Amino acid sequence: MAYVLTPPATVGVPVHGSKDLFPVRRIFCVGRNYAAHAREMGHDPDREPPFFFTKPADAIVICADPKNPAKVAYPSATKNLHHEMELVVAMKSGGTDIPIDKALDHVFGYACGLDMTRRDLQNQAKDMGRPWDMGKGFDQSAPIGEIYPASSIGHPAKGAIQLDVNGKTRQKSDLNALIWSVPETISYLSGLVALAAGDLAGFVDGCGTVTCTLV
Ligand code: MN
Repeated sequence: MAYVLTPPATVGVPVHGSKDLFPVRRIFCVGRNYAAHAREMGHDPDREPPFFFTKPADAIVICADPKNPAKVAYPSATKNLHHEMELVVAMKSGGTDIPIDKALDHVFGYACGLDMTRRDLQNQAKDMGRPWDMGKGFDQSAPIGEIYPASSIGHPAKGAIQLDVNGKTRQKSDLNALIWSVPETISYLSGLVALAAGDLAGFVDGCGTVTCTLV
């Protein structure tokens, strides 16, 4: 049996210190998971349950070489494009109802990524009770840097995450400011969907070094 069309290529993210690629299956993003960002967006940062939205795997833009910045086109249909710097967690395995104390066993590694947002479309969707997809999951909406294996760097639970734009710091936080920790979020998400190898989860808005140029 053959496919009627050529199947789309698997999206691969470079792994730091390796020639190999991490194959991306799905991208889950956690809404509003930094306390300051929750306040900025007009919400109480108390621990309401996390909520999720998705982006297609082919929204990824690889930003792995600071000397050769990737270019991201200004997207269509928006006058209010936002960047949100994120810690990205790359899953090497998954399952359902993963206990919090086992969650990190399923993590391959970590990257920095940008959750690009057409804020005007997202706000319009919120106002109308409609899905966020076109505000969040558009083409090139997920720039990402190299994935650093947990086997080399461990599982960071604190440390600066920062985004600079043209040399000026625009977003800065610390991983310890996450409202829900990485293991808690993996555990909760695995109660909603069966997580699997290749899944990426982004833990909203704070940073590191993703180099890309908006054109
Ligand atoms: Mn975000």
